[in-house]
Amino acid sequence: MRCPYCADDSNRVVDSRLGRDDTEIRRRRECQECGKRFTTRERVEDVLPRIVKRDERREDFDRRKLVASLEKACAKRPVPGDALERLTDRIEKRLQESGEPEVSSERLGAWVLDDLVQIDTLAAARFASVFRDFQNAEDYAAFFTSAKARRAALAAEGPPAVRVPEPHRRPSA
Ligand SMILES: [Zn+2]
Repeated sequence: MRCPYCADDSNRVVDSRLGRDDTEIRRRRECQECGKRFTTRERVEDVLPRIVKRDERREDFDRRKLVASLEKACAKRPVPGDALERLTDRIEKRLQESGEPEVSSERLGAWVLDDLVQIDTLAAARFASVFRDFQNAEDYAAFFTSAKARRAALAAEGPPAVRVPEPHRRPSA
């Protein structure tokens, strides 16, 4: 992305937002060379950052893979079906708006956890156990302590982004 004033290609993103129809993203950029600002428009599918795994391998963000791991974490939990699709939408939007060419899987996982913990703490613990590779009960205890603090902080801020319905009564076998 070259500066239209001086043609330098180093710049930083100062603001990103999705266009009204969600198919393009507008970025306000500042040239590192001449300091001028300019706007670029990019197609959403072209701007998703690559995900950098812990072993440094790069891969494309895979929506279906994220939904599958969320479904696994939420198995038998009272989480409404479309909550995970909506969570995935929010994560995808966050990736689009990050304005970065690459995002670590660590950071992506932290975004997911931060969102999931507002929906179901136990599901978030399951997700964290895989993503953070929990080894023992202390890891879970530490997770629940921080999840509790996070939920308390969010409750102080206002209503959660996602309402959790009452658990469904399971039919007795
Ligand atoms: Zn410039």
